[in-house]
Amino acid sequence: MATFDRKSVLVLGGSRGIGAAIVRRFAAEGAKVTFSYSGSQEAAERVADETGSTAVRADSSDRDAVIALVSESGPLDVMVVNAGIAIFGDALDQDPDEIDKLFRINVQTPYHAAVEAARKMPEGGRIIVIGSVNGDRMPLPGMASYALSKSALQGLARGLARDFGPRGITVNVVQPGPIDTDANPEDGPMKDLMHSFMAIKRHGRPEEVAGMVSWLAGPEAGFVTGAMHTIDGAFGA
Ligand code: NDP
Repeated sequence: MATFDRKSVLVLGGSRGIGAAIVRRFAAEGAKVTFSYSGSQEAAERVADETGSTAVRADSSDRDAVIALVSESGPLDVMVVNAGIAIFGDALDQDPDEIDKLFRINVQTPYHAAVEAARKMPEGGRIIVIGSVNGDRMPLPGMASYALSKSALQGLARGLARDFGPRGITVNVVQPGPIDTDANPEDGPMKDLMHSFMAIKRHGRPEEVAGMVSWLAGPEAGFVTGAMHTIDGAFGA
């Protein structure tokens, strides 16, 4: 029997990159997977066709749309919050509305989605949020809002782990370093600078992050909660 046979999994932000790798991993391990996307309909349809999962458009900047999706998805065994954005640039020049939108996508919706998922989650449920090593270490200017948002997820996991621990539900953050996706391609201009911070001088692969998520969601990780799990080639070390 596959590890996640008959398990119901929701991935917020599953059309591309790390999220798509997480969808593929859970589907390959037998789960019934639903995932959200906002703009990439074609990519979402491809992932859904390939994996037999269900794609639903729900923009993570719209808290109520995501709460409704979580609620309508019924009792979830696993919810992964992956959707996240970064805005680069001089903090003095940035549009406050765009920064607030980042906070909605990266912090506010993850919090409300996690609470909503926990309402119906059975004993042994798993809530996993994709943070970033930038929640621990921000060695570059121009990314304060992103770093702030990823640090905030650490408090989310520590606090909600206390709230839901008595029901056997775990809450964890996975903190990737540079991972080769559309958002951070390995052949991009920042490659050498990023690799200079690392012990293993390459970008990680989305599948490597999905492997860590799968372990945290699995039966061996029931005692792991309120914790940050960094997968970063020692970017943050
Ligand atoms: P990509 O930009 O490659 O993919 C982002 C995914 O999230 C897409 O499926 C996208 O869907 C979805 N998404 C983005 N915004 C929204 C939204 N408003 N509503 C719904 N879905 C949304 O990013 P990555 O795969 O690189 O990153 C995924 C997560 O990992 C993010 O939280 C990111 O911060 C984190 N991370 C990434 C690192 C990296 O180096 N790549 C390093 C550390 C953390 P769509 O296109 O349909 O909108």
